[in-house]
Amino acid sequence: MPNTINYKTVRKPQDFRLFSLVRKKGRMAFASAFYKFTKDPPALVLMHKKENFYPEIYLECVLQINDLSALMKNEFIIAEDTAYDGWKFYLDRYGHLMFQLRDKAPSYEESVAISHLSLATFVGMTFKVGFTVSGTKLLLLAAKDERQPMEVLFTVEDFKGLPPFFSKIEPTHLENKSSRIRIQRLTAYNTARFELFQGGAGKPNGCLVKTDFSGASRMFCAYHGNRELIDIYTGPEFCNTTSYWLFVRVTGAVKSKTKLRIHQHLDGRPNMCPVFFWSLDRKKWFRANSLKVTDERGAFNPLLEAPARDFYLASSIPFLETELRQVTQQLKRLPFVQITNIGRTVEKRDIKLLKLTDSTVPDVEKKHIALICGQHSPMEMLGAHFLMPMVDYLKKNKAILQQVVLYFVPIVNMDCAHWGGNGLNVNKLNTNRCWFKDLQPETSGILNYFKKLKHKGIQVDYFIDIHAGGTFRNHPLVTYSDNFYVGPTVKNIFKGKADAQKMIHKKHRALKLLEQYAGLRTIDHIEGSFRRALAQDYFRIAYPEAMAFSLELGTSSYFDPIKKESKVVDQQSLRIVGEGLLKAILAQISADAPG
Ligand SMILES: [Zn+2]
Repeated sequence: MPNTINYKTVRKPQDFRLFSLVRKKGRMAFASAFYKFTKDPPALVLMHKKENFYPEIYLECVLQINDLSALMKNEFIIAEDTAYDGWKFYLDRYGHLMFQLRDKAPSYEESVAISHLSLATFVGMTFKVGFTVSGTKLLLLAAKDERQPMEVLFTVEDFKGLPPFFSKIEPTHLENKSSRIRIQRLTAYNTARFELFQGGAGKPNGCLVKTDFSGASRMFCAYHGNRELIDIYTGPEFCNTTSYWLFVRVTGAVKSKTKLRIHQHLDGRPNMCPVFFWSLDRKKWFRANSLKVTDERGAFNPLLEAPARDFYLASSIPFLETELRQVTQQLKRLPFVQITNIGRTVEKRDIKLLKLTDSTVPDVEKKHIALICGQHSPMEMLGAHFLMPMVDYLKKNKAILQQVVLYFVPIVNMDCAHWGGNGLNVNKLNTNRCWFKDLQPETSGILNYFKKLKHKGIQVDYFIDIHAGGTFRNHPLVTYSDNFYVGPTVKNIFKGKADAQKMIHKKHRALKLLEQYAGLRTIDHIEGSFRRALAQDYFRIAYPEAMAFSLELGTSSYFDPIKKESKVVDQQSLRIVGEGLLKAILAQISADAPG
């Protein structure tokens, strides 16, 4: 018997089902692998640890009434948790749909959600009601009859105190003989994505959305029996039942006619992935055409136009296991490239580091550059595309390899590259908070590698942790302010005012070079603070002489260092910025070189 619902167990929407209770010939038929049902009083009780489940729920209930006055009489409890800090989902005596927290702090108004519209205004004799919870978001839902899809009656975006999971659900009035309202069916799913359970969608008709390839994301499709429109719902990841990340293959579309409507993250914001890319062969990528970007409620819900008959579609230009394999196959033949496994992820996937240098010259005589990519979601692995233009530049300028070593980790979060997701690791932690404590297999792999080098007398001179996120203006660097270098954090690291001033001067020179060569304009940058948590923080204090930055690559725009204007991100732009980044680093390093 399964005791969990997670990214491995869910293949189809029904795999989210927590339980179902159905009235059949006057008796309640119960089915669940996770809850037990007690009759007196009626209660559904979770049999496993709540940590085994997503912190989300969709509860759906079919109710039957004899006449509308049943809705406007007494309060009717559909389901509740009678614990002192529990909740109550009910119809009030005006027919409003209500969700209320029992613990009324801080005020009654803040502990209750009310549909405002009385159900008596629109429902038939058999109708559906329900709610969803994800984080602090609550939706109240209803459908006028059992077969209609649920509509959102009311939304509370920031409902403080909502339970993260529903371990106990008591349908108190299940067998209340005096009630003129009857519960015909009560079903719960471990996702707030209620749209997946509304039926009504047709069969595919020639056009299919597939995930049968390496690196494909999880998703669910709703077909409508034609090739006009397909709804794509992003699927479960490590912590949530939806994701920013999408990577699928569409076949049999009608070019410029088929439309794909993307239902992304539950919060309704584009956040990390506002633009999409498509490819015929997974090698050459183009920006997808968004016909519409939001739904009528203003939530991000892009409608994309099919650019071809068969194509890949992704929330970024993917660099995943397939791309890593291709690049390492190609590069391992080069005499100046060494490929090492420096650690393994939580799920034991190898983390690869490429070391680029001329091995005939001892490393202790060289300068050392470390670039890491992809601590987070697959969309953040964009920076790995910098590797090839950097290699091409070094091939043309081999003498540099006698003076520098470039260490490049294309993908840190290999598990997230494999499964897709929003960027935490399998332990549900943000690895970019785990460089000082809570060390993760991913961070300790990298730390140990560089610690070993330190023992051999090798210091890192320049470090960049490369991330990506869609809605940034161009590609911002995250830097420490000048004040940081004279502040208390680094008092013991920089041995005096002169040292600190030297570092500030070096930083400004680095920023100037990054703007000049890579288009990373100072005006676009973000001033970050030292948090004793991030990769950038670790390298900042472990190597006092080094430059240490984070870089956020926007997927929307970049500033072209040659044309001196903002342009749309594409594969060519990644080549330009990648090569420029290396040139800027090399220029900095040679300016620092003694003599
Ligand atoms: Zn990130």
